[in-house]
Amino acid sequence: MTFETDAIHAGYGSQYNLYAASVPIYATAAFDMASALHGDELASGEKQGFSYSRVANPTVDILEKRLARLEGGVGAVAVSSGMAAVSYALLCVAEQGGSIISPTNLYGASVDAMETFFPNFGIHTDFAKNINDLDEVESLITPHTRAIFAESVANPSTEITDVEGLASLAHKHGIPLIVDNTVPTPYLFRPIEFGADIVIHSTTKGITGHGNAIGGIIIDAGHFDWTNGRFPQFTQTELVISDERKGKWESFSSAFGKEAFIHRIRTKYLRTLGAVQSPFNAYLQLVGLETLPQRIRQEVDSATAIAAHLQQVPHVTKVFYTGIDEGSQAALRKKYLPHGVGTILSFLVEGSEENVVRILDSVKTFTYIPNIGDAKSLIVNPARITHREVPAEYRDAAGVTDNLIRLSIGLEDVSDLIADLDQAIASAY
Ligand SMILES: *Cc1c(COP(=O)(O)O)cnc(C)c1O
Repeated sequence: MTFETDAIHAGYGSQYNLYAASVPIYATAAFDMASALHGDELASGEKQGFSYSRVANPTVDILEKRLARLEGGVGAVAVSSGMAAVSYALLCVAEQGGSIISPTNLYGASVDAMETFFPNFGIHTDFAKNINDLDEVESLITPHTRAIFAESVANPSTEITDVEGLASLAHKHGIPLIVDNTVPTPYLFRPIEFGADIVIHSTTKGITGHGNAIGGIIIDAGHFDWTNGRFPQFTQTELVISDERKGKWESFSSAFGKEAFIHRIRTKYLRTLGAVQSPFNAYLQLVGLETLPQRIRQEVDSATAIAAHLQQVPHVTKVFYTGIDEGSQAALRKKYLPHGVGTILSFLVEGSEENVVRILDSVKTFTYIPNIGDAKSLIVNPARITHREVPAEYRDAAGVTDNLIRLSIGLEDVSDLIADLDQAIASAY
């Protein structure tokens, strides 16, 4: 099936849902186990089924299956936010004192987690200056390294990551590549096709597409070998997936093979840390996902036109949108993102932060909101809001200076958006 068709149908069978045309919201905390025997089989994992919505829920299950299909993965776990997805994936891979290699041009809360919070749990990050410099990245790999992490298209610079190059480097050293694919969405880019092992999303953004629900997802490509000696958490036996009374002991690798990662996320992280996606939010995300291709196509066209226009506007000194960049990123764009790099862009303006404040206060069609991927067009000053917690040194390296403005382009008519930016910038000087 094509992407457009899977976005509407994958993972759902109306025959299992009383022929409901729209995915039902299973608003239930728990499920009738019917008989003592069935209860025992469910609890031991011998039979698949639903028992308690902290671990799995039928509405959420359809979202997981649909996004796994759209990304080309073998399985997925939906969680309550994009940050839960980032945190669970990185902690699961690096627990027991591992380290991660990552660039600093990332979503603010992701950098902050790696820089100031995960070290409290014994997990450290080696930040690469240039994640596309494979020699630099290789020089950072140590026996403790457990993953390379990057955003496929960085927020807000839209810099493109060389996913295939990083995946082969990672695999040469027996470590997985984890990609945050939020900015392009699976419609524009599918990292698994280029070797990524784990893909994560803030589904809050383009996937939901209407700014009405927070959510995240972790998707497993199902091709990484977790038994290569670097990952004891996958090869040690665990009571939760074993049957003590029958003397049958399993590790996540022995029980689930190359799908060990996604099963471990569900059984250890979702079950114990509990950042569960609600069935109602999963429903909103499924509805939004149905129109992902059509929305992204129009939004990319508008973002491209706006980026080109801003380059001509007085007081705008630089536009960051790799979708029109003919410099060093053009080759990566042609290889990975031929249909567009996404729906965010940013630009620098002359003067001081005061001019930025005037622009933010003068827009009428754009809304001043710290989100992206909404059907409404949004504007924000990242240095003060979305990247405030990022150390100044990393902010500067990521181009997030005080005079930077980020836009997320929605579905309004592009001529109205351009007119709004023109009047707001003109009135700020
Ligand atoms: C928004 C965002 C996140 C965090 O997602 P939430 O749903 O807000 O928790 C992570 N990564 C990227 C690239 C984002 O844009």
